[in-house]
Amino acid sequence: MRVITTIREIMNARAEWSVSQQVGFVPTMGYLHEGHLTLARQARRENDVLITSIYVNPAQFGPREDLNTYPRDLPRDLRLLEEEGVDVVFVPASEEMYPAGFVTYVDPTGALAEQAEGASRPGHFRGVATVVLKLFQIVRPHRAYFGQKDGQQVAVIARMVRDFNLPAQLRILPTVREADGLAMSSRNAYLLGEDRIAARVLYKALQAGRAAFEANPGERASLAAKAIIDMVQAEPRARLDYVEIRDTHDFLLKETLAAPALLLIAAHVGPARLIDNFLLREDGTWDTGIIATSQD
Ligand code: AMP
Repeated sequence: MRVITTIREIMNARAEWSVSQQVGFVPTMGYLHEGHLTLARQARRENDVLITSIYVNPAQFGPREDLNTYPRDLPRDLRLLEEEGVDVVFVPASEEMYPAGFVTYVDPTGALAEQAEGASRPGHFRGVATVVLKLFQIVRPHRAYFGQKDGQQVAVIARMVRDFNLPAQLRILPTVREADGLAMSSRNAYLLGEDRIAARVLYKALQAGRAAFEANPGERASLAAKAIIDMVQAEPRARLDYVEIRDTHDFLLKETLAAPALLLIAAHVGPARLIDNFLLREDGTWDTGIIATSQD
């Protein structure tokens, strides 16, 4: 496994592989867990060459967010990636990604980028889209792997792939969860003791939303959301940010509980800000599978 820190070296390595070799790419911010490793495993199976990146992208963090405390453990990450058969790990420094004079950003607009997570974290998706486009330009993957865990991010990136006619195929994999349902996240490292137990409320709330749909499809979405909000607010260690039910195509709020919809939740539990989502598919099943691909 090669660990590469410069863009020039990645592009040189990329040029060494024959054009017939399929390149898979898994971008991450490191502090890897089973969610990331599932993406790597799938990418390993589907491609000849597997590149991952580890980069905590400052452009997607707000000024009062956790950029400086975001958990990091590069030696452990490299060990885990080596075990998954990764060929190249790209670990750039910020001077490499955003050198002096960098001024060009991708700024997704509209409900998709500005509502829900976009409203709570202004500029977040601008940072995400910019770094993903830049990484795609550097790595030029045939397939890129993302997790449904960050459902809105998936939708933003899928939109960018279509809008800019990017040649990469997106592969979206289901959310990997802890035994009690908590979505795996590097930020779960912030959860200690009672906070870790309380964090289960996000998953329980999503399950309540699913149950409301199954019991009464067509119900007003705002009523279903209210039941979920009440549930989160009953957990004293949680501070709700939002619960929203949005259409996966236009990302507008749903009037009624109808597919295709994304049930999104964000809440602070102790020092951690957590997000999760369930996808309501057109066939009436709830799932955490593919919400969008570059072929859609
Ligand atoms: P991050 O390091 O948090 O930026 O995540 C890197 C990639 O892993 C993103 O595509 C995430 O959506 C994905 N990911 C993170 N957590 C999970 C999870 N629990 N299950 C599946 N994918 C995940």
